[in-house]
Amino acid sequence: MASTSLTDAELRHFDKALRDQRAIIATELNRLAESLTSVREARSDGSADDEHDPEGPTLSGEWSRIVGVHGEFNEKVAAIDRALARISDGSYGTCLRCSKPIGAARLSALLTAELCIVCARQVEGRSR
Ligand SMILES: [Zn+2]
Repeated sequence: MASTSLTDAELRHFDKALRDQRAIIATELNRLAESLTSVREARSDGSADDEHDPEGPTLSGEWSRIVGVHGEFNEKVAAIDRALARISDGSYGTCLRCSKPIGAARLSALLTAELCIVCARQVEGRSR
């Protein structure tokens, strides 16, 4: 098992920060779900003739925007859940690629970081 360079206090701090962030995003997701419902209602409200409805395109645009943000938030929650699982199994703070410590400074900036800065740069460089 790769060991993390983080102290217990740091782990507790990141655990709490992750849970706080997750709660904020969960609230946002609920709000988005409500927006989706209201857009859906607005669209189906007397819009049997959707193609000739001047409101149609606007609502469709709003719809795709919300669906996009919703997807982003869902990914963030998934990343946070992975990070929390990594705290439980002791691999949090260890690079998934090279097994070196990610470092508390980088984790503070990006709680869900799964790669150390060196690997993150290499991965980014490759995808360019
Ligand atoms: Zn690495």
